[in-house]
Amino acid sequence: MSRRDAMLAEMGLAPIWRLRDRPPAPAAEAPAAEAPLTWIPLKEAVSGCRACALHETRTQTVFGVGDENADWMLIGEAPGAEEDRLGDPFVGQAGRLLDNMLAAIDLSRAKNVYIANVLKCRPPGNRNPQPEEVAKCTPHLVRQIELVQPKLILAMGRFAAQTLLETDASISSLRGKVHRYRGVPLIVTYHPAYLLRTLADKAKAWEDLVFARKTMASL
Ligand code: URA
Repeated sequence: MSRRDAMLAEMGLAPIWRLRDRPPAPAAEAPAAEAPLTWIPLKEAVSGCRACALHETRTQTVFGVGDENADWMLIGEAPGAEEDRLGDPFVGQAGRLLDNMLAAIDLSRAKNVYIANVLKCRPPGNRNPQPEEVAKCTPHLVRQIELVQPKLILAMGRFAAQTLLETDASISSLRGKVHRYRGVPLIVTYHPAYLLRTLADKAKAWEDLVFARKTMASL
């Protein structure tokens, strides 16, 4: 069994999933042109942020992780307990699933992906982000996107997709299309934590990743 097949098997996706042909995605437009804040001041701004009440309950902020010049940028919702404890996004069980899925298409936070969240602080008890928290925190994420200048964004879950696309549409209606965030192609998929609870949708998430990989190859 190849390494890729072994990973797919571990994710519960093998052996039935096959690459399918999809129509080519539209060509990328240029990313936003304005000169963004640089990394160090942005990291300092995030670690000292007190813009919403989440600073009172966080252990630490969770900024982002990975290659700061990556072509792929993955965006999740908010830190959970493990992320709040360790300071990096997606280091719990959902993160392990995400890492396995990425590895199946030769992507990794260690070399060619940047991962961030909409919120930089953990909502207590892992409750959903509140609209005012999203509103206060989104400028940090916007700066990160400007700095990374990804070729493609993968929005994982409702909060990332709805925030970046400024829509109330459901994940299921947003999947399978190439959207744009300020000209950058954006693809919507399920959140890894949701996939842990809903095994049947892992296959759809795999389809989304394959779609994203094809889109990237066409850019
Ligand atoms: N869920 C998220 O959306 N982000 C994390 O960093 C961890 C879990």
